[in-house]
Amino acid sequence: MFAVGIDIGSTASKAAVITEDGVIASKAIVPIGTGTVGPARVFAEALDRAGIARSDVKWITATGYGRFSFEGINDQKSELSCHAKGISHLLPQVRTIIDIGGQDIKVMRINEKGTLVNFVMNDKCAAGTGRFLDTMAKVLDVSVMDLSGLSQRAEEPAEISSTCTVFAESEVISKLAGNVKLENIVAGIHKSVAKRVASLVQRCGIEQQVAMSGGVALNKGLVHSLEEEIHSRIYVHEDCQLAGALGAALYAWDHLQPA
Ligand code: ADP
Repeated sequence: MFAVGIDIGSTASKAAVITEDGVIASKAIVPIGTGTVGPARVFAEALDRAGIARSDVKWITATGYGRFSFEGINDQKSELSCHAKGISHLLPQVRTIIDIGGQDIKVMRINEKGTLVNFVMNDKCAAGTGRFLDTMAKVLDVSVMDLSGLSQRAEEPAEISSTCTVFAESEVISKLAGNVKLENIVAGIHKSVAKRVASLVQRCGIEQQVAMSGGVALNKGLVHSLEEEIHSRIYVHEDCQLAGALGAALYAWDHLQPA
């Protein structure tokens, strides 16, 4: 029998399948989230990659913003618990996690067992989130995947003083009109996000080692900017965006064990 963790985010759907022996059988990411066909697609894709049928799945644990909307789940867990469990599995030495997803930022401190000790979240605002970066990329007419490379070629980050998405958007437009180099604008955007995230890190308290989870961690330029702001190395696992789904799958896996 198999256990499945599904992370239904605001922006992307993620899933992981674990065997009875605790081996990760498959992982899948579909770049559309709750309220779309993303969750059903990612679930089907993860099963397909593991070479199993729905009837082979004993337990499904859901997490993420849209976790209550997926039919057929056995239980659900908070994103905080799942990211903590997922990162603790991927990078056991980590004690501080910075998770930046499509619509929120969470800073968590965990102990050696992967249990949450403290956390701080952003208010209900897109500033500093994946949505903020998605919007800025659109204004600059580039893909979010190109932001990292662009910022690493910058000479001097442009000053972006607003963290509010609406105001920052008009600041970016006026920089473009003023012929400021695209690379410098992107570096300025990263710096503004990094400053906002660093203030949350300070509020939560930092303990070594530090890791990032969530899709935004794939942006190396932003990670580098954040390292400068918090004066600490940040570890990023290649499965950073899957941390929540993996944590959920590990919770589901507990139900495969004899009582
Ligand atoms: P959620 O769980 O809220 O849906 P995720 O943790 O899946 O969010 O992260 C989604 C965000 O990750 C997107 O808003 C996007 O900005 C960012 N992202 C995804 N892939 C990449 C990439 N290759 N490079 C940079 N950013 C990325």
